[in-house]
Amino acid sequence: MLGLALAGGCAAAVAASSRAPQPSDVAQVRLGGDQSATRVVVDLRTAVTGEEGRDSHANRIALVLRGAVTSKSMKGEGRGLVRSWRIDDAPGGARLTLELNGKAQIARRFLLPPADGVAAYRYVVDVTAPPGAAASARSAQARDVQPVAVRQISQPEAVHARKIVVIDPGHGGRDPGAAGAWSYEKNVTLATALALKAALEHTGRYQVVMTRVSDVYVPLEERVRIARKAGADLFLSLHADSGPDAAIHGASVYTLSERGEQRVGYVLGRHEWFLQEAKASDDQAVGQILLDLTQRSTRNRSAAFAQTLIEHVGDRAPLLPRSQRDAGYFVLLAPDVPAALLEMGFITNPGDEGRLNDARQRAALVGKIAQAIDGYFAAGAQLAQR
Ligand SMILES: [Zn+2]
Repeated sequence: MLGLALAGGCAAAVAASSRAPQPSDVAQVRLGGDQSATRVVVDLRTAVTGEEGRDSHANRIALVLRGAVTSKSMKGEGRGLVRSWRIDDAPGGARLTLELNGKAQIARRFLLPPADGVAAYRYVVDVTAPPGAAASARSAQARDVQPVAVRQISQPEAVHARKIVVIDPGHGGRDPGAAGAWSYEKNVTLATALALKAALEHTGRYQVVMTRVSDVYVPLEERVRIARKAGADLFLSLHADSGPDAAIHGASVYTLSERGEQRVGYVLGRHEWFLQEAKASDDQAVGQILLDLTQRSTRNRSAAFAQTLIEHVGDRAPLLPRSQRDAGYFVLLAPDVPAALLEMGFITNPGDEGRLNDARQRAALVGKIAQAIDGYFAAGAQLAQR
């Protein structure tokens, strides 16, 4: 605290002595979202740590962004749950004050470092309507989970809190999915999902919920409903691809595309993995996902998970260049559940089909996916603690 306060003072003194206008670390404040969830993004020239201010109350959120220097106050109109915002100089940092349109709470807040062509640090505050509000479709279980997630921001992670992972084996029952020379997608997705469930549960860190555990048909809406009801921290859908050419092989990862949706800003836009599926896919039904079910706040968490997944899975299976993927294809998301879809390989490729149907090679893949899930949650905990 003291160190940060001194650093701020020194910076001010230097600026004053040179008579140059003192630069502000806060470049701009942007808002996105609606009445059920609103995202506030503060673009910064420096890394900060957030700390909730004492003057927060039911209709106001006050945060001190420690380490940021502001030369002048900034303010602007709100959006969604936020009526207005302002940034003021405060001891040790910049104070962000959000006046709310009624009661709302911080769902999460985190710092994103510069990346992917975005030069600024971004401090992100996701504000949600209180549980039970009309727009909230969360289950009682999800509500129980929420305060834990919020507390993690200011306290070391609650180690005992098991993350809830929903695994969705694609297809099933009368929907076989893609067909290989001698096997069906629905069977390899189920076998892999069951192995992944066992691997995750073995760690003691996860509670796994499956959208199906046998060869049954489960509609897409039902899969989403299961994820929402479970209060999932992560949703992973497993699939296997098919291609017109048996030579095409390799894994790929999809997360939600923002196509057709209003851009919030480059926070999500440039970070987004555009991982989209060929039009001819048998998985086209997945493309009929209700985009309005999704929240932008979930989007870059999904992208972070997709990135981690691809890094882990990618070192054992060649990944398709994303240029081959240019049609709309959306992973089904519940509003607050980061999600990704893994195409584990091409069942129409003899090598991939053999791998997907071999228990030992599946186990290797499962190990990589489990590592990716570990990595995703570990990174999230680090970010939340900044
Ligand atoms: Zn599929």
